[in-house]
Amino acid sequence: MEHLLSVIIPAYNEEGMIETTAKTIADILNKENIHYEIIFVNDGSNDDTWQKINEAKACNNCIKGLCFSKNFGKEAAMLAGMNYSTGDCCVIIDCDLQHPPALIVQMYRLWEEGYEIIEAVKENRGKETLLHSIAAKGFYYVISRVTGIDLSKASDFKLLDRKAVNILINMREKNTFFRALSSWIGFKTTQIKFSVQERTVGKSKWSTMELIKYAISSVSSFSAAPMMFVALLGVVMLFGSAVLGCMTLYDKLIGKALEGFTTVIMIQLFIGSIVMISLGIIGYYISKIYEEVKDRPQYIVSKTCGGIDIK
Ligand code: UDP
Ligand code: MG
Repeated sequence: MEHLLSVIIPAYNEEGMIETTAKTIADILNKENIHYEIIFVNDGSNDDTWQKINEAKACNNCIKGLCFSKNFGKEAAMLAGMNYSTGDCCVIIDCDLQHPPALIVQMYRLWEEGYEIIEAVKENRGKETLLHSIAAKGFYYVISRVTGIDLSKASDFKLLDRKAVNILINMREKNTFFRALSSWIGFKTTQIKFSVQERTVGKSKWSTMELIKYAISSVSSFSAAPMMFVALLGVVMLFGSAVLGCMTLYDKLIGKALEGFTTVIMIQLFIGSIVMISLGIIGYYISKIYEEVKDRPQYIVSKTCGGIDIK
């Protein structure tokens, strides 16, 4: 029995890449006689990405497409691709060919040997601005600490066995962080190294601000440590206030009160800010709970092509 490989490609404003990417991947897989389907997920692009996907489909009937009703983000696009895939295993790869497609074959062979998850890890990070690279380093440091998984070299370029895919698409979590979740679920995993290629067409969709937001939401989806930090701050403040309290009482007893106005102001300000920050952290988690409770879909598929029915 022949196996089917699903190649999932999230695409947001990638009109210039669709044709090349589709052709490159198809050629590689055809040459290796791997039975495949390519699923492009158009993540609400405002350029001609969807049209390009339809053109690519017309040239190759292994190509399928999903079109979101608006931009839902790469996490949602990857998830949708997995949800609509029919293969025995799925590869997730960027549309900009920064992930070398030749590795798909290597990953597929490892899967045939019995590995269930094959992760491609970055050997280098490609070309980035200094700020971007500092932000990314900071993010990975924090996320590695909270998840206990070293993600500094992780990428979304992965091959997952059907079993793992089914687990991921059936998670009820809305605020997913694919890179970490796919390690968290376990399974027989191996890694291969790759070096990030430079983007030839278009530009990166991530601004530094977006990366920071993504970082905060990823950390909160994996850990309640920031809330523990609030409690810890409370304890530290309690000790501090015990010491200060004794000093104040002592001053009062020996009759030299009234001094220390500056201290009072400073303590007020300090406590005020700590309380605000703490409320903010707690509020953030509550908003996350609210989002999960509302149970909105993570994405909405508005159109499909290549013989996929909207689920
Ligand atoms: N992408 C997406 N939705 C988004 C942003 C990005 O589907 O909202 C896709 C994009 O088309 C590409 C992949 O995610 O295939 C990686 O994006 P990008 O190259 O911009 O990120 P970088 O390589 O700079 O991390
Ligand atoms: Mg890229």
